[in-house]
Amino acid sequence: MNQPTSRRRVLSLAAYLGAAAVGVPPAAAAASGPRAAAGGSFVIRDVRVFDGRRVIERASVLVAEGLIRAVGDVPASPRHRVHDGRGRTLLPGLIDCHVHSFDEGRADALRFGVTTELDMFNDPAILPAARRQRRSTARTERADLWSAGIGVTVPGGHPVNPDWDIPRVTAGTDIDRFVADRVAEGSDYIKVILEDGGPPPRPSLPSLTPEQARQVIAAAHAHRRRAVVHAEKLRLALAAVRSGADGLVHAFWDGEGGPGDIAEISRGGAFVVPTLSVVDWGAGARDLLADERITPWLSPTQRYLLEQVPPDRPGRPDFLAIGSANVGRLHAAGVPILAGTDTPIRANANGVSMLAELGHLVRAGLGPRAALAAATSAPARAFGLADRGRVAPGLRADLLLVDGDPTTDIGAVRAITAIWKNGHPVDRTPPPE
Ligand SMILES: [Zn+2]
Repeated sequence: MNQPTSRRRVLSLAAYLGAAAVGVPPAAAAASGPRAAAGGSFVIRDVRVFDGRRVIERASVLVAEGLIRAVGDVPASPRHRVHDGRGRTLLPGLIDCHVHSFDEGRADALRFGVTTELDMFNDPAILPAARRQRRSTARTERADLWSAGIGVTVPGGHPVNPDWDIPRVTAGTDIDRFVADRVAEGSDYIKVILEDGGPPPRPSLPSLTPEQARQVIAAAHAHRRRAVVHAEKLRLALAAVRSGADGLVHAFWDGEGGPGDIAEISRGGAFVVPTLSVVDWGAGARDLLADERITPWLSPTQRYLLEQVPPDRPGRPDFLAIGSANVGRLHAAGVPILAGTDTPIRANANGVSMLAELGHLVRAGLGPRAALAAATSAPARAFGLADRGRVAPGLRADLLLVDGDPTTDIGAVRAITAIWKNGHPVDRTPPPE
């Protein structure tokens, strides 16, 4: 896992796994991150706290041994190092709910305040180490990881990757057995692909049938695993919901959902991870690359990925506008919205692209607090991550401190002054070229 050849393999593998709507770049080189100082007990004093759900205008937060110990009044003690929180906001570490993870990606994520990544299709070889790390409160240079492992798709279907020999579902496959094999490999949830490709010039693709998807989801539930579905089209999103999906890991952007469609998705109870960054055609990346609060901290890999803005096509539908309209309607209907990026794909890099995605969610109609909840408490609740996603006593001290007030101005989330992972400060120095 830590050898350079293996790193390259994982990154190139991840490059095939993004959404079908936008192509992916070749792998970029990267190096390992710097060492961070040891953690200890400390207080962040007189800080505005967004606790994952609501705002506490002024509080102090005590951290010791990797956990949040108190939120509110914390008596002064010579044992605690003090950080001045005045004029700043403390947030739970961010959770990116749609990535395809690799080692440097998890370090890049952490240096931008993303302390947990939920991987949506990857090599199951990464799972045992990921599980060990996320159970520990030891110092780490990488975001914690949960993963679907190998997603459920058909021969020739999305993700189309001739170099990666993975099991795929055919007409004769025993679907219970297939899902049991993923669970045995360590999949934390089951990812289902409903993707039939097109429209031209993109090729059409073979896909699971809705009946197969229903069987996969039922098998996942029998194994006490959530089932999440890749569907970028309204028709397929509705099929996923009718099949019992727990979540959709893209918005749909082939057309706007009508009131009946939105109501059906809401009744189905699924959450939605919009990944609007997938269809912003580089708007978020251009904005990040022009932001002096961002650029000093970019790794070579992050900069490379952000610079890969896809060429525009004359007459291309405005997928971002369509997807955003759908997200606004889903949110208004009470559908839980979770923040995710689908990194690494073109113009979309680990960690940093979450800061652009939060802006997309606000413009889609969530408002800053709901957008921040979509990146903290909402994913913790949707995925059952009981030890994180809020600033509350007993939870893991994954914390993000920013200048200003992102609960009223989401752009302030980019003004990062400190990040703690498991109560240890994160060194934001990017790795060398
Ligand atoms: Zn993906």
